[in-house]
Amino acid sequence: MDAPPPTLKGDELSSTNPATGEVIGSVQVTSTAELDAIVERAWAAYHNSGWKSLLPHRRALVLNAIADGLVAEKEALATLQMKDNGKPLAECRGMVESAIGTFRYYAGVCETLETSVTPQRGDYVSFTVLEPFGVVACITPWNSPIMNDATKVAPALAAGNAVVLKPSEDSPLLAPELARIALAAGLPIDMLQVVQGRGAEIGAALVAHPDVRMVSFTGGTTTGRAIGRVCGTKLIPVALELGGKSPHVVFADADIEHAVAAVVAGIFGSAGQSCVAGSRVMIEESVYDEVLAKIVERTKSLRVLAPDAAGVEVGPLASFHHRERVVAFVNRAREEGGRILCGGEPPTGGDYDRGAYYLPTIIDGLSHASLTCQEEAFGPVLVALPFRDEADLVEKGNGTAFGLACGIWTESFKKAWRVGRALEAGSVWVNTYKQSVTTTPFGGFKNSGIGREKGVDGLRLYAQVKSMYFGLHEQPMPVAR
Ligand code: NDP
Repeated sequence: MDAPPPTLKGDELSSTNPATGEVIGSVQVTSTAELDAIVERAWAAYHNSGWKSLLPHRRALVLNAIADGLVAEKEALATLQMKDNGKPLAECRGMVESAIGTFRYYAGVCETLETSVTPQRGDYVSFTVLEPFGVVACITPWNSPIMNDATKVAPALAAGNAVVLKPSEDSPLLAPELARIALAAGLPIDMLQVVQGRGAEIGAALVAHPDVRMVSFTGGTTTGRAIGRVCGTKLIPVALELGGKSPHVVFADADIEHAVAAVVAGIFGSAGQSCVAGSRVMIEESVYDEVLAKIVERTKSLRVLAPDAAGVEVGPLASFHHRERVVAFVNRAREEGGRILCGGEPPTGGDYDRGAYYLPTIIDGLSHASLTCQEEAFGPVLVALPFRDEADLVEKGNGTAFGLACGIWTESFKKAWRVGRALEAGSVWVNTYKQSVTTTPFGGFKNSGIGREKGVDGLRLYAQVKSMYFGLHEQPMPVAR
């Protein structure tokens, strides 16, 4: 079944469950006039609500109360996200947990973050303080709405900003829930507001709004570049968390059983709709056939089921129109001469015919220069490539425009160190994959982005440093010295 993209009826935007094709809810589209009023209210709240001057430990209380509010509605939120974007329920539960952890973590960071007294160079004491930007725009994609929203909103609020949040038109239902819970938890009114509608319209208008002073975006590289251009013209800071084509490397000396399981989980978890999906498996030549055969065998056994079915391992894609992109990607791989080792088509029959499913797919036989090996599929599609030695691996591993993440499987820590330092990636996983914790900075090299979210730096991202000098002069200052 090919369903159209989300529909805008009059001023309503509907959300379709990609597992069934049913419309599950709708939201009001924000008009340009409403956007102006929203940003104006955000500024008023920023200046007048007292939030930015609230002492950090008091702000932390509210962030913790938001976490409590999420805990209270955990199951309902997970179920809503499952229907909104088709992710398996267990994954959605994990994402709500992650959002809870993020609010708690930034409550802690907010309360404990220190600035510095800088070395003295004269008759004064010099030190730094952090100031919010004012109104921050947070723009999030459809693959992990509640988690991505929290990753941006929690530190932006912790830093004292007012936030205008724009979720994807493909998954519009979670952001209003977060805003509702935040308000109930004691966040002053209008400090977190949500705008809805098409990215190219309301998202672009939000970024361009003269009173938006910082933008934090997660999504595709093309959109990120367009947003970056506008922010460059406005001379406002922008954080971009973009796509990837992450190499997942298996050396001959690896624990092959663990490596194979991680490669399969690393790409087919979330049906490949993850910026850090390990979408290029690079296997040392001497074990290429053996390891690839094991990966294919394990992939064929994955249970592609409805997101709420017992034992589901791979659910549908987030939307029907995104599935069309994946279908086109694999068709082009065929034209480039790729061999489809498994998958390569949507499953058919029963529930499959109603949903946006696509079978986990493995392709090999392609040159590394092919578009299939260079571009992001953002779906359940893995390309396999052999490598000769470390030099060959590093050249190919770094041979795309992206640099988000990589995985390395080897029993040699020295090799892991050498290769991990040589690969251009914001996150390197050695003998593990796709671990991403709130406490550890996350972001990309090259076309995978600018800035680091998460960790203590994730709060500093939303603040500007002010340097202050307190004079201690015994004598009046001379005109020149
Ligand atoms: P986009 O990057 O276009 O969308 C991400 C967010 O940006 C959405 O909220 C979108 O709104 C909004 N947006 C779109 N255009 C603009 C604009 N001009 N100004 C401001 N905001 C805008 O991703 P797509 O959904 O189109 O997916 C395209 C590709 O991006 C995927 O195939 C994948 O490769 C990559 N991607 C990467 C993600 C990541 O986690 N890094 C997440 C999602 C996608 P709306 O959805 O309403 O258009």
